[in-house]
Amino acid sequence: ATSFGIEKALEQLGIKEVNPGTSTGNEWFSGAETISSFSPVDGKLIGKVTVTTKEDYEKVMESATAAFKSFRTIPAPQRGEIVRQFGNKLRELKEPLGKLVSYEMGKSLQEGYGEVQEMIDICDFAVGLSRQLNGQTIPSERPGHVMREQWHSLGVVGIISAFNFPVAVWAWNTALAWVCGDVCVWKASEKAPLCSVACQNIIAAVLKENNLPEGISCIINGDYKVGEMMTSDTRIPLVSATGSTRMGRIVGAQVAQRFGKSLLELGGNNAIIITPTADLKVVVPGAVFGAVGTAGQRCTSTRRLIIHESVYNKVRDAIVGAYGQIKIGNPLDENNHVGPLIDKDAVNMYLNAIEKAKAEGGKVLIEGGVVEGEGFESGCYVKPAIIEAENHYEIVQHETFAPILYLMKYSGDVENAIDMQNGVAQGLSSAIMTNEMKEAEKFLSYAGSDCGIANVNIGTSGAEIGGAFGGEKETGGGRESGSDAWKVYMRRQTNTVNYSDELPLAQGIKFDL
Ligand code: NAD
Repeated sequence: ATSFGIEKALEQLGIKEVNPGTSTGNEWFSGAETISSFSPVDGKLIGKVTVTTKEDYEKVMESATAAFKSFRTIPAPQRGEIVRQFGNKLRELKEPLGKLVSYEMGKSLQEGYGEVQEMIDICDFAVGLSRQLNGQTIPSERPGHVMREQWHSLGVVGIISAFNFPVAVWAWNTALAWVCGDVCVWKASEKAPLCSVACQNIIAAVLKENNLPEGISCIINGDYKVGEMMTSDTRIPLVSATGSTRMGRIVGAQVAQRFGKSLLELGGNNAIIITPTADLKVVVPGAVFGAVGTAGQRCTSTRRLIIHESVYNKVRDAIVGAYGQIKIGNPLDENNHVGPLIDKDAVNMYLNAIEKAKAEGGKVLIEGGVVEGEGFESGCYVKPAIIEAENHYEIVQHETFAPILYLMKYSGDVENAIDMQNGVAQGLSSAIMTNEMKEAEKFLSYAGSDCGIANVNIGTSGAEIGGAFGGEKETGGGRESGSDAWKVYMRRQTNTVNYSDELPLAQGIKFDL
């Protein structure tokens, strides 16, 4: 690890051997229990983070609720200025933070840098947004009256994040929440806790330089039990939770029970439809990057290829051929395409999924398995696999968070392919490869893809921050990042003002005294 400059990166980010896991900004609290963060890259212990106790959680919530009262009074463009400075700090620290992401989570260094770039991009977006939190005026049916809609700050936003985007998901939420006047409490994934400490160090420095109070950016650490402190807490009006559908089902219900809002970003089961006119030059890199990038651990990873029978053999052979070029190895080495899975549990889930697919009748085209030998001592490196399967297989209907690609055929019209693409419980990302305008438009129409993201002639993964990100059905329905996703971080208020001398009632109701 030393050769890739990890030690220097940890130092630049203020990561120590044992790090307090609870913070309200520049103040840190440590409990006795710790989480050890082992790198899936080489199996080594990177550092420890202390788990948030109930008492420390209370301190965080007191600090956050107090900070909200003052933070919401700062004009939105001035809050935008804080986010601008935060974006600049991220620019300065892109290299060490990208390296930590790569080393703690296991994604390629380029993807680690890409993740930090996404944080920078959302900061830029949020800075502009800070002058555009616009409401509207609405014509009133009553003379001498005016109606308006205003957007007000919401309060403490709870953020629960998954291991696979250990820094970007936090920034997608916080950059918007902060310009909206909210304060944030973040529980990072227990599988990548050091990333949360690094991010908190970065924002804490910005807040200090601006003499801002504690409580605007808070972190807590631990497993689901710490997450539950937030889901059941009525002081948190919005919980934004990214992770598995299993988690979202519990979190969504708990938050709804107390009438809180939840923004759920859950699992996907993303497909690319490959039609007879698809351009192989686009299909092959799109499908292969989608399936093996981040070792298949993106919520938008390509899981299924739905290929027209007339081009099936040609596409299959091209994809299988491309898999022969994939280099598996240390993700910090830029020559490698595929790094490790997050941990050995993930490896077991991957192996089980391959067995299940075989048992259901799947035909293995590219054999999977664990990679062994020098450089692979962590036991987390696996071979990207390709399996010919059918859409109705139980295993195909579920998201396996690993590089397993299922190939399936469709015949006849594109409607048949769209039915297959929609024929799963998840609804995150989807794509069609075609040069037929009518097919592309059908895919994007009301009768087309039922996903939150639908692409033409690009793959399923790699969204830009400018669009709203999220999906339907078991993906949870939440939208984050661009477009008008900011509205979920605010409360809407409808105002009617009477500037006449009369009091006419709406709907012409008479009430004479
Ligand atoms: P996970 O569900 O195991 O954990 C996610 C987070 O939820 C963790 O911080 C965990 O501690 C917390 N958590 C779990 N149970 C909880 C509970 N009952 N109450 C409160 N918090 C709880 O997911 P993971 O393995 O870290 O991530 C992989 C999953 O995330 C995949 O399914 C992937 O598709 C999904 N994901 C979705 C998106 C998206 O934007 N749609 C983005 C990234 C990842």
